[in-house]
Amino acid sequence: MGLPEPVVDLSPSVNDAVKATTCYMCACRCGIKVHLKNGKIRYIEGNRDHPVNKGVLCGKGSAGIMQHYSPARLRKPLKRVGGRGKAEFEEIEWDEALTIATQWLGDIRDTDPKKLAFFTGRDQSQSLTGWWAQQFGTPNYAAHGGFCSVNMAAAGLYTIGGSFWEFGEPDWERTKYFLMFGVAEDHDSNPIKTGISKLKARGAKFVSVNPVRTGYSAVADEWVGIRPGTDGLFVIALIHELLHAGKVDTDYLVRYTNAGWLVIDAPGTADHGLFARGKKGEQLSFDRKSGKLADARLPDIAPALSGRYKLSGKRYAVPVFQLLAERYGDEKYSPDSVAKTCGVAADDIRRIAAELADVAFNQAIAVEAEWTDWAGRKHDKFIGRPVAMHAMRGISAHSNGFHTCRAIHLLQLLLGSVECPGGFRFKPPYPKPIPPAHKPAGKTVAANTPLDGPVLGYVQGPEDLLVNDAGTPLRIDKAFSWEAPLAAHGMMHMVIANAWAGDPYPIDTLFLYMANMAWNSSMNTSAVIDMLTDKDADGNYRIPHIIHSDAYFSETVAYADLVLPDTTYLERWDCISLLDRPISHADAPADAIRQPVVEPDRDVRAFQSVLLDLGARLGLPGMVNDDGRAKYPGGYPDYIVNHERSPGIGPLAGWRGAKGGDIGRGAPNPRQLEAYVAHDCFWKQELAPGQRFFKFANKGYLEFARQMGFVGTADPIVLQLYSEPLQKFRLAAEGHGKMQPPEDMRARLREAFDPLPVWHPPLEEGLIDGNEYPLHAITQRPMIMYHSWGSQNAWLRQIIDRNHLYIATTKASELGLADDDWVRVVSHVGSIKVQVRTMDGLNPDTVWTWNAIGKRAGAWNLAPDAPEARQGFLLNHLIGELLPGKAGQGRLSNSDPVTGQAAWFDLRVRIEKCAAGDGVTKPQFEPLHRPAGLAPAPSISRFDAGKCERVTAGGSRR
Ligand code: SF4
Repeated sequence: MGLPEPVVDLSPSVNDAVKATTCYMCACRCGIKVHLKNGKIRYIEGNRDHPVNKGVLCGKGSAGIMQHYSPARLRKPLKRVGGRGKAEFEEIEWDEALTIATQWLGDIRDTDPKKLAFFTGRDQSQSLTGWWAQQFGTPNYAAHGGFCSVNMAAAGLYTIGGSFWEFGEPDWERTKYFLMFGVAEDHDSNPIKTGISKLKARGAKFVSVNPVRTGYSAVADEWVGIRPGTDGLFVIALIHELLHAGKVDTDYLVRYTNAGWLVIDAPGTADHGLFARGKKGEQLSFDRKSGKLADARLPDIAPALSGRYKLSGKRYAVPVFQLLAERYGDEKYSPDSVAKTCGVAADDIRRIAAELADVAFNQAIAVEAEWTDWAGRKHDKFIGRPVAMHAMRGISAHSNGFHTCRAIHLLQLLLGSVECPGGFRFKPPYPKPIPPAHKPAGKTVAANTPLDGPVLGYVQGPEDLLVNDAGTPLRIDKAFSWEAPLAAHGMMHMVIANAWAGDPYPIDTLFLYMANMAWNSSMNTSAVIDMLTDKDADGNYRIPHIIHSDAYFSETVAYADLVLPDTTYLERWDCISLLDRPISHADAPADAIRQPVVEPDRDVRAFQSVLLDLGARLGLPGMVNDDGRAKYPGGYPDYIVNHERSPGIGPLAGWRGAKGGDIGRGAPNPRQLEAYVAHDCFWKQELAPGQRFFKFANKGYLEFARQMGFVGTADPIVLQLYSEPLQKFRLAAEGHGKMQPPEDMRARLREAFDPLPVWHPPLEEGLIDGNEYPLHAITQRPMIMYHSWGSQNAWLRQIIDRNHLYIATTKASELGLADDDWVRVVSHVGSIKVQVRTMDGLNPDTVWTWNAIGKRAGAWNLAPDAPEARQGFLLNHLIGELLPGKAGQGRLSNSDPVTGQAAWFDLRVRIEKCAAGDGVTKPQFEPLHRPAGLAPAPSISRFDAGKCERVTAGGSRR
């Protein structure tokens, strides 16, 4: 007799279904498995089989649940009924919304398609959005890259045919020395974290060059607290040391680079600085074996790397390597000469150069594998120089960032550490020909006519610029003009200012997707807000129509006339394509999809499907059949499966062909998405051991790449130490050729378009008084947030819900500042009032803060008194979109003069102690109304699988 044994369920079921998909909480695109219970999201875990994260899930990825259940989610299409910027909307049906959009866009396309400016933010579907713009016929399209990292991408693609981050990666398994420059912790998050842990486990050395010691720098073996904007000079000093020590891999340079190509030495002539060419246009070297000029690409010549050689007539030429050695061997680049400017001790520069050389040359490694090079020569191993490098926005966001990044690539090439075991390795479909073959379209724009190629591309000389005969830019952002010739990602930061000014022409409609351009994705935010609401003499908005698609009530939603609500990333089909920014590993091309894990519970639609719907309504070529009906009536998933960019090549490379047995090329497979879902939503193809290294000259890899459509031919790709496209612009600036820049642009182009990497101080520095603005001001992005939407996520804002301005302890004591003091931060554009914190791990001439934590009161369905609004702030208010100067003086944009990259890390400021006053940061703006349809956010933050109660957006975490 007794009581029954209590029943305790020791293994309660946490789910009743698990669905694989791809994370979108940052740009890494990790594989995730979403656990569901009763149709609600219960838990997110990393997919252990996924090539990107191998099961690792970061805090952002886990917090995707709260992103999905955010109280800031838009619920239905909205039409503006009040004044712009007030967030006064009425809810409308989708049919009405799409009819309005079709009317506006149709009128533009019937008359002048360039009056549509279509700009997207951290858009992971750029191969669709770019193609849509091309078919619409507007050259005014770009995504977030011009604001973020085009200097990195362009420098890489014009030098080595790939770039850091998405197009390449350190060989984490083998590298012995890892040198990282200015990386924000939100980018390439899981791969870098897991990579660094591998280095630590193996005892490899990790050196981080960054003015701020946070994130990755905090766990580095050595932190180099460099002065912002001087990384290029530091790298050139390393090159100087290697050249003087003779620690250069000349075999590698001869085999794989243009080190031995001859450059015409005829100052003042139209071909000075161009490559010497033979009768068939082939580049020439001087062959030491035959004692004659020879085709530089022949495999069996022994090109001279130094000397001066006679060409036909009275002309001479010198090898690239000689030019390079002359330049960087100069005493002005010695560690002693650059140390003060860089804020790095000369002895440290010398030591780091010696360490690089020691690891590259004394600790070389080999991977045994038979492979054949492009010339048919057989090898039994890959020799590796195990030094790897990585760089990101700290380099990119300076006006000298293009050349700094080229200098880093030059350093890698001199060490022979690109695409070798232990070095930096390309992720397929990279490397590509240098530069990639397609040029930007948009020279001719006509009503109801698609452009004759992709909107964004790679300029090879002045003839490819998008300017008219008078030199006036043809794009609204002035990308690919004399102001920013190699603007491969466009110049998103200039769109609103130029559209407002009607310079170079007025537009009709600004169409934005996921781009928070009324807040943190603009420079000079206060002025941009005014531009969006400014009216002409007739009382009409100077930018007549604004359409915005977003999943959440961002600051920019308030400025839209028409809002098209997007789904969350867990509610839609998506495609991470090899045509775009894929998820490949250096050993395996790969792509992926997102599948809907749950159905939307609101009247929202995936933007990509909406875009295709609009395309069909507008009758855009490729989006309708001959009978005028929609070509992809099933929306984006229909497009993903059936669209062919060229015969047999579509958005996804896996399971192609009628039976799903093909990869890369093959007819559309109607069951392709099923195959992806059955394989955890990704596809990858392991390269054979003999295809894995030296891909630019590896016959086995190049033939595979041609078959897959990654490259047009299996010809070798020669890495470009010396860039001829850059020299063509310099020649134009010197008065040669049919296309020449306006007089007032010549000096700038001559200086910026150096065919070898060069260092100049950031542009803003040369235009302001350094005594008045003595400090550099930069931002970092925390590891726990990537999109601006991160700081309305209830879990993530418990980690950080406000920001401070960080100042070096030594500088703070010099200025009489202590933790939590209030200061006014002043730039040439304006001032902000913020609170300071002191820290030791900071370059003493630098202040910094977290980016995009500050929010406008009321936005994101946060309470108007949320810490993000009252104590958070943006540095953007201090950053000019134009270089310092006076109105009416033809001021140029605050950008890299080569690529147009927004130079927001060039900012110089002074700080002045001030009273706390009301204890609120300044500037503050009128709180935004909560738009129609959005319920007030609950005041208690709670996640519960059963109820999935909405999380707080008001109040603080306390
Ligand atoms: S690193 Fe980025 S993609 Fe990966 S889990 Fe974290 S947020 Fe998601």
